[in-house]
Amino acid sequence: MPKPSSKSTPKALSPEDLAEIRQIYADLEKRALPRDCTGLAGCCQFRLTGRTPQLTRGEALYALIGVRASGRRELKPHPEGACPLLGRDGRCTIYQHRPFGCRTHFCQAAGGMYPRRHVVDLIQRLEALDEKLGGDGSRPLEKALSGT
Ligand code: SF4
Repeated sequence: MPKPSSKSTPKALSPEDLAEIRQIYADLEKRALPRDCTGLAGCCQFRLTGRTPQLTRGEALYALIGVRASGRRELKPHPEGACPLLGRDGRCTIYQHRPFGCRTHFCQAAGGMYPRRHVVDLIQRLEALDEKLGGDGSRPLEKALSGT
């Protein structure tokens, strides 16, 4: 996988865009839907689940802040086909910066995906930010982070 930053994506979110994505995630936290994520990281096992989070550009740039903060200089494929951001300890290495999909529990063990009607306004804000940043829609996590 290429290094986290690329020529085709902005290198960083502007303060305004950073504030917007943080607010989107904060607003999501206020949605009181019953879920029980226990950090099993089952949803991070892409090869096993056959599912991968889809990231808009704003989510990707925010996740890359977490990648840089973790000290990684490049992302390598996980040897077992899991998310490349899953640490050796079995936990997300960018938890505070994880994408929207990872926050809406696409993991069945945690209760399953939030019904779209409960988060559609937040998805639309992510899409609006994506467009503002020159993105062209959601991409699978690895592609979104590599900017391809
Ligand atoms: S970004 Fe973190 S929470 Fe999301 S799939 Fe990867 S390791 Fe799991």
